[in-house]
Amino acid sequence: MKALSQKYFALIDCQECANCCRVLELEFTEPELHTIANSMEQSIDEFKKRFVVQGIVKPCPALKGNLCSIYEGRPDVCRSYPHFEKPHFIFRLYGVLDSIAICPIAFNAFEELKAKVKWSQYRARWSNRRRQIETEGNVA
Ligand code: SF4
Ligand code: SF4
Repeated sequence: MKALSQKYFALIDCQECANCCRVLELEFTEPELHTIANSMEQSIDEFKKRFVVQGIVKPCPALKGNLCSIYEGRPDVCRSYPHFEKPHFIFRLYGVLDSIAICPIAFNAFEELKAKVKWSQYRARWSNRRRQIETEGNVA
């Protein structure tokens, strides 16, 4: 998965997209909130009042146009999104599916993964098996 993620990171320009910065309600650590508040010349209390509800409100206040105004110091969760290069990919499939709807890197990497593991063949086999089970169930 890591190789596929890196392949599409090289092919897709995040500066043309910025979807994750627009639509995700991210949870930043306290120091990360301070970094963004400082970049906006706001006190942390003022910043939290304006921009933090459960996670940070969307779009992220550090986003300027399509660019992150604190890019070099951006939070870890932003650096690793869509998290395809983190361990235990298989145990995070709900999150992966969410990412596919938002992120073209995630979408393309996952489509290529499906082709590699011959997903359509498994799906066809599973559909046949399910029909067989339903038919057997009706007979019984
Ligand atoms: S959604 Fe994906 S492609 Fe778009 S900016 Fe975020 S990481 Fe980059
Ligand atoms: S801190 Fe930067 S990279 Fe992270 S969500 Fe905000 S604008 Fe995007």
